[in-house]
Amino acid sequence: MAIRNIVTKQDPILRKTSRPVERFNDKLWQLLDDMKETMYKAQGVGLAAVQVGFLRRVVVVDVGDGYLELINPEIIEMSGEEIADEGCLSVPGESGKVKRPTYVKVRAQNRNGAWRILEGTDLKARCFCHEIDHLDGILYTDKVIPEAAEDIIKAGE
Ligand code: ZN
Repeated sequence: MAIRNIVTKQDPILRKTSRPVERFNDKLWQLLDDMKETMYKAQGVGLAAVQVGFLRRVVVVDVGDGYLELINPEIIEMSGEEIADEGCLSVPGESGKVKRPTYVKVRAQNRNGAWRILEGTDLKARCFCHEIDHLDGILYTDKVIPEAAEDIIKAGE
């Protein structure tokens, strides 16, 4: 395994759309192992392949309740909403308030190509959404709610 370099927000690759994984082979497994090590080393809760320079629909996640690998993930159901602070390993030292669903159901393949259903609530739901956004070239900074706007939303509740 190896630690990969995490690209930062100035890198245009972060704005590109990642391609689906078609081959579940040694090359993919090496990438996954490296992403896992890189995420833990950086003390992140999630990492998308594009963040280490690979435009493939691959995500690793661990919000503290176990390590997960999601290949070709799709959100198939979501509900609820919550505004909370969010950050990104590609946007070091910053955070912002983003509205996300409090529950998501995701369909994804594992490293052998088997499809399964994963569910996440709260931080895990937020993490799934954030990482899947990366696969479509979207950064959380695109969705940050300015502080003033947030106050208006709260006042209207
Ligand atoms: Zn991120």
